[in-house]
Amino acid sequence: MQFIVFGNPIEHSLSPLIHADFGRQIGVNLQYSRSLTSSAQFNRAVAEFFRTGGGGANVTVPFKQHAYAQVTHVSARAERAGAVNTLVPLGAGQLLGDNTDGLGLVWDLQRLLGASQLTGKRVLLLGAGGAARGVIQPLLDAGVTTITVINRSPERAQQLVQLWQSPQLVWAPAATPEYDLIVNATSASLSGDKLVLGADVLDAAELVYDMMYGAKPSPFLEQAGQYTQMTADGLGMLVGQAGFAFKLWLDGAELNLNETLERLRAELNRGT
Ligand code: NDP
Repeated sequence: MQFIVFGNPIEHSLSPLIHADFGRQIGVNLQYSRSLTSSAQFNRAVAEFFRTGGGGANVTVPFKQHAYAQVTHVSARAERAGAVNTLVPLGAGQLLGDNTDGLGLVWDLQRLLGASQLTGKRVLLLGAGGAARGVIQPLLDAGVTTITVINRSPERAQQLVQLWQSPQLVWAPAATPEYDLIVNATSASLSGDKLVLGADVLDAAELVYDMMYGAKPSPFLEQAGQYTQMTADGLGMLVGQAGFAFKLWLDGAELNLNETLERLRAELNRGT
């Protein structure tokens, strides 16, 4: 069984390791490869992969919107996110596009806080790009009360809030100390930039979560760790989104996501 992830860059993708572990868990010998492609080649590469019997694909930066535009069927989740991270072949050249990023985040938050603990929470979401957009509906579905979006370019956050048209999603120009959960969905750490939140804002939060992951905590998480009760990086979200994608491809697969997360964390730490 062949699976693949399309992206650019793609050489550091951990998806092959994660899916190999899922395969091991259910006793299936699967092949999961990385495909470095370009915007011009993306559609052809996807079509070719499925024409030759591919069982499923993931899509990562910067092709999630391309994938959304290419599929013949789109899930309600992907529609809301405006982006696709999972491709499922339906036969006869038809492709379903889904988005499991938000489910992955909710899985990880529930792992960290307890299954019912998102109910009633007030969330501060930093960033208004694709990742932020993808997690809004799953967070609301999981029972959070409000999501306040703050973004470097305020007009992008305002546009997102307008698009949703829900009183539960609001925009703010700056953070105040009133949030239970803070989720960093910006790519600031990638460029080495430091996000600055007031100590009072961090101190009031129960959990500060950074979608970025790595062997070392991001500067943002390091700062948060000085004030808040709990911090976590996005490795669990990555494993969670992969798990939901895998279940779309292999219906009914029983996975132990915690076990995969532990293995992956150990692997990441070994690489330092
Ligand atoms: P986008 O490029 O779509 O959006 C980037 C966002 O970050 C924008 O809101 C942008 O603000 C903001 N930003 C960028 N640089 C800075 C900065 N220096 N200071 C403040 N804000 C900044 O990226 P994505 O939404 O796709 O991804 C965001 C992050 O989430 C990435 O780091 C990605 O790796 C991570 N991610 C993790 C996943 C996981 O499974 N753990 C899954 C998906 C994403 P502006 O609008 O002003 O440009």
